[in-house]
Amino acid sequence: MPKIIQLSPHVANLIAAGEVVERPASVVKELLENAVDAGASQVTVEIRDGGMTFLRVTDNGCGMATEDARTAFLRHATSKLRSAEDLAAIATMGFRGEALAAIASVSRIDLMTKTPGAIAGTSLHLEAGSITEETEVGCPDGTTIIVRDLFFNTPARMKFMKSDTVEGGRVAAAVQQQALAHPEVAFKFIRDGKQVLSTPGTGGLEAAVYCVYGRECAKMIKVESRWESYSLTGFVSKPTDSRPSRALQTFFVNDRPVKSRLLIAALEEAYRNQIMVGKFPACVLHLNLPANTVDVNVHPAKTEVKFLSEKAVFDCIHYGVLGALNKT
Ligand code: ADP
Ligand code: MG
Repeated sequence: MPKIIQLSPHVANLIAAGEVVERPASVVKELLENAVDAGASQVTVEIRDGGMTFLRVTDNGCGMATEDARTAFLRHATSKLRSAEDLAAIATMGFRGEALAAIASVSRIDLMTKTPGAIAGTSLHLEAGSITEETEVGCPDGTTIIVRDLFFNTPARMKFMKSDTVEGGRVAAAVQQQALAHPEVAFKFIRDGKQVLSTPGTGGLEAAVYCVYGRECAKMIKVESRWESYSLTGFVSKPTDSRPSRALQTFFVNDRPVKSRLLIAALEEAYRNQIMVGKFPACVLHLNLPANTVDVNVHPAKTEVKFLSEKAVFDCIHYGVLGALNKT
């Protein structure tokens, strides 16, 4: 056996980055979550070439002080978690302090950020995770991050990228998902110079659903139910409007988009005998439950969750949706 060595932080970062940053859409998801955590009310995403060469996210959130801006790109650097106990009840979208470090390690980044109280903002340039330039700049309150040349230093990952059209489509889906997750935030999405999505940031979930899915949603059924400290809100399709795939099933747990077989099963149980085999209901459902009854620390991408009581979650969705379907 060759001698064992501990990998350099740079190589360790590249390995870890693989789990967080799979493609441009995952970069956008992480940057949008950061903007939301920063309290932004307006967020703009702009991409070129499917996000591979240019991807910019601008928010009007709390911004970062110079020192924080530098620290933000270190691995496990976060303002959202302080102790092991905090992991038991996570109230922010981010908490692992990994995203910026991961994204930076596989791209070139320009950051401009300013806190509301500051006279000037900070501009940083990073190449493959290292800060190569730092200047003071005049800029609006909030944060702008530009990610260029994603995966320029990881050819192995680059090979797996699909066409710009496909990657851009996935970015669009990621923006739509965040727009549905946070109807209180106004999102804009500009793709190759053309604005393709704009949500009002007011008017709640219904307005956001309308912007994302268009008139289709007018036919959807409203779901609103409570069960102890759990609440379920959103929209589901009529049994007669079922789809050929599950592509239009979107679930949020405490405003976080999640993939969960349990939630799918609970939804579909409500349609049992009402929908043909091979057809699927569509939904945009927000499940809210106490932060200490769900574990989001399952995977770096944070799209998987573990529930303390799967039965309670299943029943909440099943009966919540069933109730809504029976009303119509
Ligand atoms: P996490 O979100 O898990 O904390 P990130 O690597 O995504 O980790 O971000 C690191 C830190 O950088 C955050 O905790 C936050 O303090 C800061 N940060 C990142 N993006 C923004 C933003 N858009 N506005 C303000 N602060 C930000
Ligand atoms: Mg984050």
